[in-house]
Amino acid sequence: MMVSIKINGKDHKVEQGQRLLLVLQQKGVKVPSLCFHHALVPAAACKLCVVEITEAGKPPRTRLSCAVKCREGMQVITESAMVHQLRNKAIGDLLKLAPFSDVIHKIGSEFGLTTGVKPDGCIRCRLCIRVCADIIGARALKMIRREGLQYVVPAEDGTCIGCGTCTNICPTGAIRAEDKENVRTIMIRDEVIGRHPLERCDICGRYYATTRFIEHVKESEASHPNEKEEHHHCPTCAKLYARRKLRITAPHLAKTYGGKPVD
Ligand code: SF4
Repeated sequence: MMVSIKINGKDHKVEQGQRLLLVLQQKGVKVPSLCFHHALVPAAACKLCVVEITEAGKPPRTRLSCAVKCREGMQVITESAMVHQLRNKAIGDLLKLAPFSDVIHKIGSEFGLTTGVKPDGCIRCRLCIRVCADIIGARALKMIRREGLQYVVPAEDGTCIGCGTCTNICPTGAIRAEDKENVRTIMIRDEVIGRHPLERCDICGRYYATTRFIEHVKESEASHPNEKEEHHHCPTCAKLYARRKLRITAPHLAKTYGGKPVD
């Protein structure tokens, strides 16, 4: 049987007993919802689909539209101060459970709800910025203000050399290094700080450092007075190589610097 209801002041003929949220969705009236599926009995878990309903002789009250069945004369308001307040509470509760959820943040901004800033794992300690500038000398990171909060972002001029020091020093893992095939990508959130080709270790053949980092080390050692041999060795092979060399050239030191006594 068809019944008449009003949605936001407009008359509609709908099937009696149909779920109100389903009707709203079918008529293109925007109402947020996460936990409703037309094939299942509503769980009323997310509490986002709240609307205001007035029925003959009764004062307006807020209900979850997924749980309401359409009845003759029902008047539905999908946006009001009370609805907004309850949706704000609902989205706050959902974000406590899933603070990193893009979907929840997107719904929040679509319906003007208060979601706060999406956490990015960064605690704004600036260790990455300082190590990159003060120790590496690359100055590839900086802090900027966006929507009232400070964010670590890549410097515009692409000065990153892909050394990975920032990822090692970051206490929360907010800056990441991903080595895929022969390319290293340094990232924070979804912003790329640097993408660099990797060099292979001359001994074991594994990719171990970026070309730019190796060049950087070469440049910074160029002014050193001692003559140096140039090697492309990963840290593990470099250690083994150094120990072997010590055994040959200075066996008495090999015991001390090699870690374990040698034969
Ligand atoms: S990987 Fe790039 S941003 Fe990180 S410390 Fe090295 S040069 Fe700086």
